[in-house]
Amino acid sequence: MYTIITENDESAWEDETGILYHFPKRYQRYLEPGTRLVYYKGKITNKLFSGKRLSDSPHYFAVAKIGKVYPDKESTKGDLFATIVDYTPFEKAVLAKNESGYLETIPDTRKNNYWRDGARVIDQYIYQKIISLAELGQVSESTPDYNASEALNDLDNLLESSSDGKASMRYVTTYERDPKYRKQAIAIHGNSCFACGFNFGEFYGEYADGYIHIHHRTPVSELGGPKSIDPETDLVPLCANCHSVVHRRRANTLSISELMELIEKTSNKSSKRDAVTGARS
Ligand SMILES: [Zn+2]
Ligand SMILES: [Zn+2]
Repeated sequence: MYTIITENDESAWEDETGILYHFPKRYQRYLEPGTRLVYYKGKITNKLFSGKRLSDSPHYFAVAKIGKVYPDKESTKGDLFATIVDYTPFEKAVLAKNESGYLETIPDTRKNNYWRDGARVIDQYIYQKIISLAELGQVSESTPDYNASEALNDLDNLLESSSDGKASMRYVTTYERDPKYRKQAIAIHGNSCFACGFNFGEFYGEYADGYIHIHHRTPVSELGGPKSIDPETDLVPLCANCHSVVHRRRANTLSISELMELIEKTSNKSSKRDAVTGARS
């Protein structure tokens, strides 16, 4: 399936272009996993955004694919969100209307409200036409766009040597540089520690709200070369303490269940200790 998705310059959704896409339930059947997408922007409404767009006129600006679809837990209306994969931005705008008319076929019955739909199904012919006008050349098929083992090597080295201040600075920027998977993982798993439940916002207040480490479940040594990441199964949010403990010994990265067992054991001990202290007083 081929679907156009609209991204407004200002939107109520916290969409991240090429990373996440939120949508109401009525569009679910047009946005199934694997659907090929064309990103569309309507006519500019606020000139402030002029520099951030390829054109002020209605236009297409990227292609991508739907990764997986999840319910938006914060929505009371059954809204959903999707992870976006293979995002390929255009270098120049493909205008929605040119000398020969609109690129999309507007049914006679929809003349008045066609453009109001945020998600619009198109056929393969229109999809190919937009791609050829974008002069993309070959749209990459399923090449991993991220070298997981490289990035993780970075991270592990840094955790390993984080006793010196410079290293922990670099550790932060490793994430800042590629926020895509981090944002997807947080959208899917939330931002509380998966192992101990710690939440930075709840503990430290608004200043720390949303802070969390994202950990890759497979140790670097076992990845065996570049591989694409599924943020649902490969990534997990951990607090800074749990994350450090997982990577405490390079030769033996703990699994999340091993980490949870450690926490379980000591929390049993401390509740026993509390019981003893309580008996003495
Ligand atoms: Zn934790
Ligand atoms: Zn990690």
